[in-house]
Amino acid sequence: MFRRFISYYRPQRLLFAADTVCALVMAGIDLAFPSILRALTGGLFTRDSDAITGALGYIAAGLICMYALRCGCRYFVSAQGHVMGARMESRMRQDLFDQYERFSFSYFDRVNSGDMMSRVVNDLFDICEAAHHVPEWIVICGTEIIGAFVILFLISQTLAAVMAAVTLIFVIVMVRQNLTMRAVYTDNRIKISEVNSQLQDSLAGMRVVKSFANEETERRKFYRSNDRYLGSKESMYKVMGTYQTTSALMTGSLYTIIVVLGGYLVAQRSMSPVDMATFALYITLFTGPIETLVNSTEVFQKAIAGFRRMDEVLESMPEIKDRPGATDLVVRRGAIEYRDVSFSYENREISERGHARPVIDHMNLAIAPGETIALVGPSGGGKSTTCALLPRFYDVSAGAITIDGQDVRDVTQESLRRSIGLVQQDVYLFDGTIRDNIEYGRPGATDEEIADAARKANIHEFIESLEDGYDTVVGERGGRLSGGQKQRIAIARVFLKDPAILILDEATSALDNESEEAVQDSLEHLAENRTTVIIAHRLSTIKHADEIVTVEHGQVVERGTHEELLARGGTYARYYRMQFEGVRMVGKSN
Ligand code: ADP
Repeated sequence: MFRRFISYYRPQRLLFAADTVCALVMAGIDLAFPSILRALTGGLFTRDSDAITGALGYIAAGLICMYALRCGCRYFVSAQGHVMGARMESRMRQDLFDQYERFSFSYFDRVNSGDMMSRVVNDLFDICEAAHHVPEWIVICGTEIIGAFVILFLISQTLAAVMAAVTLIFVIVMVRQNLTMRAVYTDNRIKISEVNSQLQDSLAGMRVVKSFANEETERRKFYRSNDRYLGSKESMYKVMGTYQTTSALMTGSLYTIIVVLGGYLVAQRSMSPVDMATFALYITLFTGPIETLVNSTEVFQKAIAGFRRMDEVLESMPEIKDRPGATDLVVRRGAIEYRDVSFSYENREISERGHARPVIDHMNLAIAPGETIALVGPSGGGKSTTCALLPRFYDVSAGAITIDGQDVRDVTQESLRRSIGLVQQDVYLFDGTIRDNIEYGRPGATDEEIADAARKANIHEFIESLEDGYDTVVGERGGRLSGGQKQRIAIARVFLKDPAILILDEATSALDNESEEAVQDSLEHLAENRTTVIIAHRLSTIKHADEIVTVEHGQVVERGTHEELLARGGTYARYYRMQFEGVRMVGKSN
């Protein structure tokens, strides 16, 4: 983990070196000033007034040069130091994103998207704050503390030793307080995230809240989490107050010691008054950096925790990878075969018998080129999973799936997924224009090709009727369009992609009857000359399929044309009767 962290510094090594040098120069100048003043008050300023006036010009020039240099270094450390941190953050963000893209579906089943977001946003921010501040603080504060102590020790060993002992006691107390503060901060973060999720839940579900007239319940829930957050903030400010008081007490005690003990030493003639004043000047150079270093442990720890979380992601291996030497899939006719396929989800509960029950259980299914088959059966029977195995969203646990005789695990994922078009119940449109969303099917397609795809999907006229036409922005997740319109844009996308194989997973289930008809038309057109697998819970929508396959408990239990299956009087006939007699809906109803 440490090596990986250092690797992010490597491309920035010049900047890092320059940043460190500037930090050193700044610390050196800060340390030099009280000594310069000491030299002047102890030597030059005791001479006659003409000599003093004559020297002031040189002193002014020297100080201006010194502080101009310090300002230059300050600018470099502030600006370029942050730039370095931002560059590192940006590279880490890219690496995380690339890694997320490599992961397979099972990863996204397991990991919560809020958690992924927080790794990319909050954790990286913490890491990069530390990446540039902590080394800079260590250089500046370390040099100032050690330098100040050495200088003071050379002036008066007794006073420096007493000061160091008192400072040490305060540092121990402050570190302990800092630990309490960290615990309170953590609690504060938890409480604010509770407020956020409560707010998000209530706002997102506001229609339900209002329709049940449950505003009062929601208000109570929100107030409760808001009060908890307030309580945590109050504790935080109390602890913060105590910490700052301790720090002020440390500075005050050191000044008092200097005046009392220093005064005594001056009275005893073991120290000059100028040296005593120099001590006082060095106090802030001593206490300020100590406070910064104590605080930096928090930043550092947050960064370590964040980097550990990032490292965890970068270390995880994607479950589905291209085999070495995998070739591109060549679809000649589009024949699909499931040969004795079994599959279980990793995160599936264990069945009562104590064995993980396979979702797909020794399934055999052959689909002829260009054929349209419909999968029907009870909800949870394994229809969607059957389809998800074809583009290798998950890998089979046993058996094999082939397309024109090529095992899907032997070909590149990219060529495999380019050959398969998927239309699902939930349409995801990206926030952008209608054109962008259709073009997603084949990046780089011309406007004419996009319009042609839209025409085939029966959506061209609607798009043209909009004020901005293809440039209409669809809004977040396509929020400005109806379900049917979104679905037809998704279909246009697949027309543009022009895959040899098509999967329609409950593509019309979420639509009302009228939109369903329009979409159904486009889908039938889309399925022409492609091997197509349809999952639909409304049996009326699959009557045109060449064959119907009933899937139950992950197995094919029946197969035939609509008429054949009705005549057979088996499971399909039962479902069909149930639906049309209106007794109960079959298929996926959740
Ligand atoms: P169908 O499409 O026939 O309704 P599915 O293939 O969606 O059935 O689901 C089959 C079984 O697999 C169900 O018991 C379901 O709960 C489970 N399942 C589906 N998707 C996942 C998943 N991503 N992780 C774990 N279990 C899942």
